[in-house]
Amino acid sequence: MLQPGTASDELARDALEQTWLENVRPPAWRNPKPAPRYGLVIIGGGPAGLVAAGAAASTGVRVAVVERALLGGSCLNVACIPSKAIIRTSRLYAEMRNAEHYGARVPGDIRVDFPAAMQRMRRIRARISRVDSVRRLAADGVDVFLGDARFIGIGSISVDGAKLRFSKAVVATGARPDTPAIPGLAEAGYLTNENVFDLTELPPSLLVIGGGPLGCELAQAFGRFGARTTIVQDLPLFLPKEERDAAQLLSDAFARDGIEVRLNTAAVRVRVEGGQKLVDLVSDDYQSTVAVDAILTGTGRIPNVEQLDLSVAGVEFDAVTGIHTDDYLQTTNPRIYAAGDVCLEHKFTHTADASARIAVHNALSDRRQRQSSLTIPWCTYTDPEIAHVGLYVREARDRDIPVKTFTIPMHDVSRAITDGEESGFVKIHVKERTDRILGATIVARHAGEMINEITLAMVAGIGLRTLARVIHAYPTQAEAIKKAADACAASLRKAATTSRLRP
Ligand SMILES: Cc1cc2nc3c(=O)[nH]c(=O)nc-3n(C[C@H](O)[C@H](O)[C@H](O)COP(=O)(O)OP(=O)(O)OC[C@H]3O[C@@H](n4cnc5c(N)ncnc54)[C@H](O)[C@@H]3O)c2cc1C
Repeated sequence: MLQPGTASDELARDALEQTWLENVRPPAWRNPKPAPRYGLVIIGGGPAGLVAAGAAASTGVRVAVVERALLGGSCLNVACIPSKAIIRTSRLYAEMRNAEHYGARVPGDIRVDFPAAMQRMRRIRARISRVDSVRRLAADGVDVFLGDARFIGIGSISVDGAKLRFSKAVVATGARPDTPAIPGLAEAGYLTNENVFDLTELPPSLLVIGGGPLGCELAQAFGRFGARTTIVQDLPLFLPKEERDAAQLLSDAFARDGIEVRLNTAAVRVRVEGGQKLVDLVSDDYQSTVAVDAILTGTGRIPNVEQLDLSVAGVEFDAVTGIHTDDYLQTTNPRIYAAGDVCLEHKFTHTADASARIAVHNALSDRRQRQSSLTIPWCTYTDPEIAHVGLYVREARDRDIPVKTFTIPMHDVSRAITDGEESGFVKIHVKERTDRILGATIVARHAGEMINEITLAMVAGIGLRTLARVIHAYPTQAEAIKKAADACAASLRKAATTSRLRP
């Protein structure tokens, strides 16, 4: 077996990187001769661009995809896949430390092998990269151009000196990390999701700036690997969009993992002294300084709209929200559509996927679909996970929709108890006096899996009472959903009985 840090490890690393790059940016790649005209040109080969390419190619139109960096985009290369791979390993270390709780003993000290965890991540990324490969696109009949795309007219782009004419186009150029303007940060050096997965050594200490999904997931992972981790968030709660009790459970989880939490705190200055990065923090009138080996920023993502010469094509955009589209994902140039992070508020791979399908459908057919018709779930993959779909209570109230909520704590669910995973809840909101599901928040070890049942019910128009009739395998954590459904059914029965008996 390969040992990390040895020459054979370097070789294995190189081999994995070769496989990965051979798939997503083959070094020997030569762009094809452009077709006289493409039915659809797609700019950006991330999840949105690749889904758009597959969907368009299946209709028989001539399709080209242009990618300036790596096929697979952020998701495969520097976001979802590498983060979920290292989160899994970090969870294993957390469980090993907690082994006694499960009646098990780990012999000797637990030694974290960070290089091996990163090697596993690279292996997984190389394996999954096949799905996003040049070969795969070519097999679908898609022309792949590697290079920077920019518009040179309302119906044409240039790539690497070549001109591609199109009938329709989809811009799917994604987003990149938004770096906070903190004096001294750039000089001190910092990590973002674009380089953190290149690490081969665990930083002994880490400051994570930003308490959104990215910051929370990676702070917990690095904390569990054993980095002395501090997370600062300039708001009073993590994941500010989520329900307050969900965010509170996350703070509790961080405390259990030994992560230092600084809420309502802003990082205001960075300097380097003796090889350490000293970061000044301000919380109201309290000032302090932390000394760390590395800083990771996770303070949001900004759309990639520059360098495309969008105005040449008559496509309106702004630097914060990205490309302006209507509900059909059509831009201000009727021949050009947009999909994914470059135009969406909800920046996820599954929304990039769904929006790409809509954009291609609307670009190539007469029957048009609206993006506002989508029901979008999401999940932050901390431990416990925090997943949501539909409306939050505050949003329902803002719309004057009366809400009734059914909450089941995970400590009332047999499988959560047997698994020692009792932190969390299932909370389902329905329109008062009905079983119409408005939304749900789930905090649980596998909340990301569980939320899909609620999403299915919402999309199919299945009321919560009907979920009470769905037999859930016992014992599963999804039984929490059945219990909430039972409570809803009982409440509606009671209301019906009361109204029948009313004189
Ligand atoms: C750390 C992290 C973890 C994440 N985890 C999850 C997760 O678990 N689940 C989830 O759903 N989402 C997750 N996301 C979000 C997800 O990665 C993005 O929403 C998704 O990648 C968006 O896909 P996209 O195709 O719109 O953009 P991207 O993936 O950014 O792809 C856009 C592509 O366009 C290319 N491009 C840009 N400009 C040009 C140009 N001028 N010419 C040619 N090509 C160009 C870029 O090189 C890039 O490859 C995560 C994000 C981060 C940062």
